[in-house]
Formats: sequence, C-alpha cells, structure tokens
Amino acid sequence: NHTRPDTACGPEAVGGCYRDVFDESVVMSTYLVAFAILPLDYGSLTREVPTKYGSVKTLEKQNVAEVITHEIAHQWFGNIVTMTWWDDLWLNEAFATFTQFIGVDVYNPTWNMMDRCYVEFVMNALQTDSMLHSHPIIMAGVSDPSEIESLFDDISYFKGSSLIRMLEGVIGRRVLKEGLMIYLNRFAWRNAASKDLFEAFSEAYRKINQNSGAHSNSPAENLTRVMDTWTTQVNYPLVTVRISGNRLHFRQERFLLYPNGTQIWESHQTNHVPDRQNPEPMWTWLDLEESKTVELDHTPAFVKINLNQTGLYRCNYEFSNWQQLVKLSRQGYFGSTDMAGLLNDAFTLAYIGRLNISVPFDLFETLEEDRLDSGTPWTISMRKISELQPLMAQDQQSAEKLVKLIFKILFDQGQIRQTDAITIAVKFARRSGALDLVWTHFTRNWDQLLKIYGHMPFLMSDITKFPADYYTEFDYERTREFFETHSLTSGKRNAYQSLESIRANIAWIKHNMESFKTFIKNKVIE
Ligand SMILES: [Zn+2]
Repeated sequence: NHTRPDTACGPEAVGGCYRDVFDESVVMSTYLVAFAILPLDYGSLTREVPTKYGSVKTLEKQNVAEVITHEIAHQWFGNIVTMTWWDDLWLNEAFATFTQFIGVDVYNPTWNMMDRCYVEFVMNALQTDSMLHSHPIIMAGVSDPSEIESLFDDISYFKGSSLIRMLEGVIGRRVLKEGLMIYLNRFAWRNAASKDLFEAFSEAYRKINQNSGAHSNSPAENLTRVMDTWTTQVNYPLVTVRISGNRLHFRQERFLLYPNGTQIWESHQTNHVPDRQNPEPMWTWLDLEESKTVELDHTPAFVKINLNQTGLYRCNYEFSNWQQLVKLSRQGYFGSTDMAGLLNDAFTLAYIGRLNISVPFDLFETLEEDRLDSGTPWTISMRKISELQPLMAQDQQSAEKLVKLIFKILFDQGQIRQTDAITIAVKFARRSGALDLVWTHFTRNWDQLLKIYGHMPFLMSDITKFPADYYTEFDYERTREFFETHSLTSGKRNAYQSLESIRANIAWIKHNMESFKTFIKNKVIE
C-alpha cells in the first residue's frame, strides 16, 4: 500500500505519467491486480490490425500495455472518485478506456494509439448504438443486479470513451486536464455523478478561455446541458449537409440501422471547407435544432464535416459532394482517421439504402498505403466489404467480380505493400466466408502470386495453407492436381500439409458421420 510512484513520464513509469497528468498520487496497491488478471483474459485480446503496425508480438505487447494502463487508470476513476450509483458506471469505464490510449501513447508513441481510437472504440460505439434496443449511457433507475451487470458493455466503455474524445475535441486537452484535476481533487475519496464532472469541465473552460477562446460563443460553458442530450438519450445523430451557393444547410436526425422514431442532439460540427485564406476548420453548433443554415463569405467547392472524426455522429452529403470527396481522396487530401470515417459512413449509409454503394467502393479504390499514416482505413474497408457476404452468397457472378476487384486493388495497383496485401486477403477470405472464391482466384493467378511471394517463405506458406479446410474428394483431387502441376517454392511443405488435412477431414467425416447421427438421434435431451 501507499506506493510512491515515479514522477517520470515514459516507458519506465506509466503510473508516474498519470500522476503528472491528474495531479493526484497513487495510494492503493491495485498494481498487483493489474498484473495478476492478465493471463485470464489474454486469449481474447488478439485484435486485427494490418501488419503495417508490426508483428503479432508487437500487438500482444500493445494489448498487455493497454490492459495494465486501463487498470491503473481505475486508481483515479473508480478508486479515488467513485460514482454515486451504478447508473454512472461510465465515469469509471469510459475514462479508464480513454486514458488507456493516452497512457499507452506516452509509453510508446510509435504505436500511434491516438490514431487508433476511431477504429478501436468509436467505430464500435457507432455500430452498437445504431440499434433501437441500445441504451443511454446514464441508465436512470437501474437497480437490479443483473441489469447492473449488463451495463459493462460497449455503450459504457466505447460510447462513453467516444464522448470523452468528442468533449476533448471541443474543449481541448488543456481544459480536459484542468477539469479532471478540479473534479478529482473536489471529490477525492467521495462519490460523484456525471453532472459534477461536467460542471468541473465548464469551470475549467471558463478559467482557461475567459470568454476569449477559439470558439467562445460555444455552449461549452454549460456542458451539463450539452452533454445531457448525449448521455441520457439512446443512439446518436446522422448529420446531413448540403451546399447551396455560399450557404451550408445542416440537418440532423436520429441514426438507426433500421430507422424508426426521432430525437435531436446538441452537437458541434467541425467543417472543412476549401478556403485557401482560412485553412482553419469552421465550427458550427446545432443548438438542439433539427436544421441550421450557415452563410460563408465564399462559395465552397465541397464540404467535409466532422474533422478527424472527433464527433460521435455519422455524416451524409449530396451525391455530387461525395464525388468531390472521392476526387480529393485520390489526391491524398485526407488523413487516416478522416479516411476511416468517410469509408465507415459511406459503407454504412449504403447498407441502409441512403447512398449508392458505388461511393464507398470508389473511396476504397483511392486508398494508397504510403499516403496514409496508419492502416485503419484498410481495416475498416475489409470489415465493411466482408459484411456484403449475404449479397455475395446470393449472386455468384457478382461475388466473383468483387473478389477480382479487391485483388486488383491489393495486388495489381501497387497501392499497398505486398506483405500487407496477402495478410489482408487472407483475413478478408475468412471473415467474408469467401474462402473458395479466394482460393479459386489464387489458382487462376498463380504466376502473379509466385512472382511476388515465391521468395517470401512465410507468406508463400500462408498461401499454400489456404485449402486445408476443404473436406470433399472433389476438392482433394483438384487441389492435388493443382499442387502437382504448379511451382510451390517454399510453400511446398504447407501444400503437402493442406492435402493431408483434406484427407484427414474426409476420413474424419467417414469415421464419424454414422455414429454421430446415431448418437444425436438417441440422445435424450430433457
Ligand atoms: Zn475497467
């Protein structure tokens, strides 16, 4: 107990860094808990991130760092200040989740943790909270133990941390830190509720900006009112913006994957309008208004709202504006997080029938790895394209053409490193259930694959491992014939292993099918 933390920031002292940030020292021995729980949860920690981030080993290290940092953060959010009741659970979990990214970013800046926020938690929040059967962050009146337990979910962790990220986007890191200091010192060793936190942020905002801040006309001074619409309402808005002359028309509506019902939010928009004289983004507040018109001093050629995707909402535009965004994306105009957001919104809007599906694919085709500072746009594209699986299952011809398109982008156009391309292709095949289509495509383009991967042992064996899950004589014969008549270079051993696996699968079915049927038939289930 009463550990004296190191005050240095950096790899040697994550706890020390927290103390530096929150002006409070660690006085409990929860460090032990943080280390002891690791092996229990370790198996579920593997995440999918393109190999641009490094080897799997790095990812594991990163995940361990995240868990430790998250648990240490609970010293402040949960231990020093505890929520008054379970309805405010997010005060613990959302802050621990958000600060885990800040902590690990300090520990190792090369992992680009802040850039991963969008794909790691904002995207999950947007997905989970697009259902009518979601729930507000603050669940008033929650009392049943099982109900309380169910609050340890994506909404408390991911929507909560996305809201803090949005808040930081509005008030800035300095005010966020100052507000947390006020909150933690004022409520140290006591209980607090959401409104206490928001009041502390408003106080810090007034103290630092003194009505002369970058957007001093913003309602950031009364955050309780603003944040109420986000914490006590379920779901989040879709903001549509339309250009007409020198005017921008904003409209907000409740976003649902299967629409039904309305609500409105108080939200900020950061707008990117092409004005060479004024490269700063423009701020607009939707002050509990369903729509708003803003006049500019010039006629914009395009608009992109929600800069850096700090806002927890989706965006839609007119088709012509989307086409402009595709054009700009081709020129490398947007950073990784904005690209990730554009792709996520475009694919999702197409999913609900609000945007032509050609738009997200046009955006996807503009991705070039070297222009992006992280692999998140690729991760999102592959996840979203894999969701097309039901469409692919119903139309073999389209499915084949889609696989062809993906492979053209991955292998022909030099938009992505070839080592990453094969990893993405394998993940896509498994996720979308298009294993057979992808393997067939591989066999038809064997010479090309051989030219790229023939001398990369690790990747070549990934390719020849591919057909190992087949289980019919027909597939065994065609795979055997293919392997016998084609060069396999360093993938030879894995090719033989694949054939052996298919044989074993066929035998496994033969040995067990009858006895399995009999067993299931005779099994009495009460
Ligand atoms: Zn936690």
